[in-house]
Amino acid sequence: MEPMNDKRDHDLGMDRPITRRDFLNGMAVGLGSTALSSYLTGCTRGGVLDAMPGPHGAGYSPPAESGLRGDHLGSFEAAHGLRDGTFWQTVGSPTSTDATYDLIVVGAGISGLAAAHFFRKQAGDKARILILDNHDDFGGHAQRKEFHAGNRLLLSYGAQSIESPSLFSAESKGLLTDLGIDVQKFYHYFDQKLYPSMKLGSGMFFDKETFGEDRLVTGFGAIPHQQFFAKAPLSEKARHDIVRLYTEKVDYLAGHTLEQKKAILAKISYADFLTKIAKCTPEVVPVFQTRSHDLFGVGIDAVSCAALYEEGDDYGYGYPGLDAAMGAGGNRGMHKPEPYIFHFPDGNASVARLIVRSLIPDAIPGHTVEDVVLAKCDYGRLDEPGSPARLRLSSTVVRVQHDGDPASAREVQVTYARNGKLYQVRGRTCVLACYNSMVPYLCREMPAKQKEALAYPVRAPLIYSHVAIRNWTSFHKLGVFQIAAPGSYHVYAAIDFPVSMGAYQCPKTPEEPMVVFMVRTPCMPGLTQREQHRVGHQELYDVTFETLERNIRDQFARMLGGGGFDPAGDIEGITVGRWAHGYAYSPNSLFDPDFADDELPYVVGRKPFGRITIANSDAGGIAYMDTAINEAYRAVQELAHYQS
Ligand SMILES: Cc1cc2nc3c(=O)[nH]c(=O)nc-3n(C[C@H](O)[C@H](O)[C@H](O)COP(=O)(O)OP(=O)(O)OC[C@H]3O[C@@H](n4cnc5c(N)ncnc54)[C@H](O)[C@@H]3O)c2cc1C
Repeated sequence: MEPMNDKRDHDLGMDRPITRRDFLNGMAVGLGSTALSSYLTGCTRGGVLDAMPGPHGAGYSPPAESGLRGDHLGSFEAAHGLRDGTFWQTVGSPTSTDATYDLIVVGAGISGLAAAHFFRKQAGDKARILILDNHDDFGGHAQRKEFHAGNRLLLSYGAQSIESPSLFSAESKGLLTDLGIDVQKFYHYFDQKLYPSMKLGSGMFFDKETFGEDRLVTGFGAIPHQQFFAKAPLSEKARHDIVRLYTEKVDYLAGHTLEQKKAILAKISYADFLTKIAKCTPEVVPVFQTRSHDLFGVGIDAVSCAALYEEGDDYGYGYPGLDAAMGAGGNRGMHKPEPYIFHFPDGNASVARLIVRSLIPDAIPGHTVEDVVLAKCDYGRLDEPGSPARLRLSSTVVRVQHDGDPASAREVQVTYARNGKLYQVRGRTCVLACYNSMVPYLCREMPAKQKEALAYPVRAPLIYSHVAIRNWTSFHKLGVFQIAAPGSYHVYAAIDFPVSMGAYQCPKTPEEPMVVFMVRTPCMPGLTQREQHRVGHQELYDVTFETLERNIRDQFARMLGGGGFDPAGDIEGITVGRWAHGYAYSPNSLFDPDFADDELPYVVGRKPFGRITIANSDAGGIAYMDTAINEAYRAVQELAHYQS
């Protein structure tokens, strides 16, 4: 960390000891000189070798790590070396390890874990399965985070919730059932009355850089829009137009049929809709600009109205005007038939942990969906020689190749980098549940058209920051549980979902410690969605933890100062989930060609290739858990004939 440079840093608490540093971008300096110097050595030798300490022995607990997590240091260097063409120049020959597996899975996200689950169901409990992942924890985006604040454990998450489970396919529902998850029980776990009973609602923070002054306005949705926006630092014209959008029932596309309206809305961004169709002053655009960030990874300049209309937003601020534009017969909310409550305290990490517990029971103790929430994973047992299913972390796969002609080969060789060394394992079959864009670097002999299709999607970069605070009296005093901050570094902040399961009880009184969730998606309006994601990737690669921490503290001070929040004294811990390759890419009707169904890049890309099949949410072109599960199921089905 750079030395403190001014009084502002001191006031913000940049010099305070909290459970997030003294980290070198997420790697504990306190690891000891051997681990640190081996990490530094790995970097110096071309910066392409994995260098995480391992094997994972007693006491090793990645969820308890804080600082820069998600794509942590040590997880991406080998993959970047492959991309840059520098990897193979810096490594020697691989060491062959282990016997042959029935299945090797690349990627321990929900999709890779689900593939292992489906394969075992099909091939039997004795099937030998190896799962490899480049991170130091399993779950992919569904990564668990733990804080110790005050005298208690607080959990938080990467992938947040099970979204609309009633729409899941039979296979996805079946997996939840196999794991013992009864989604109806979330109506009991999630206390939907807690925050309303405390009169906590929604606010918007207007920052001075964007809106001329810092102002938190509270009561969104609880007081009339006219009253709410009268308090916002906006011109009279902007206020009038926004209130008009929320309240008037004008069919902005009158005279068009429903099909014509859908076609028009598929080709116009919400930013253009506001100014060109609803005829608002351009001053309203910044109020809405970042509203789509959390679900789409880009602002309203780069998302079609049709996509926003169908998807809605999880936090209830909405996209005013679209209902009126669609008139009668629209299908708003077709993706959201249920409340947004299907949330484990550690998000979808509990789903990942339940799959791991069923595959490797010795690693995670317990038997119920409730007790998995507090169960401590023994990372040392994930990869034991006697176990039919093994999970190997900090292992970046760099080559996946049939041992001969893919049509007749009997095995697949999988090479991976771990702790600066190369290893090779063999599998009768292989599921690639890693990112689509990674596959062409791994399977060089794939047909060119398939590689081109796999390289097409660009995943959305996201930052999910979690901040443990001493108490939430400031939120209580201000009367908010969530704040949209359209111009700020993080565009949304909220105290945690009020979910209690088994022995884990969520904070229920403002005097207790709490975790605040914040989201940022770096992008660059004016470019296409894929171009914006690439710009965001670079920002995430370059950003330091110090920058993130300073921005978090500064934003807390400015948003919550009126409630008495003291960033120097009230912040107990910070964990930043940096997800450079976040949401799977869905074709965007504003920028992408109108692909025929069988020419969609993810359809062409997911074709089986000999004994190698493709899973991951990328293969379904949708960034949801059920897509990840559905694609795992398909990928395993495609391998069925190799099991006989
Ligand atoms: C911040 C965030 C929040 C989200 N919230 C939700 C939510 O609330 N609900 C929801 O349904 N979905 C959510 N999603 C979408 C999420 O991506 C999917 O739900 C699902 O978890 C994706 O699983 P996956 O296995 O397809 O991919 P991933 O989770 O990306 O897993 C793939 C794994 O493969 C690894 N890998 C890649 N290349 C290699 C290699 N060469 N060698 C070894 N390993 C490799 C990756 O590092 C990763 O660990 C969220 C995503 C993000 C980023």
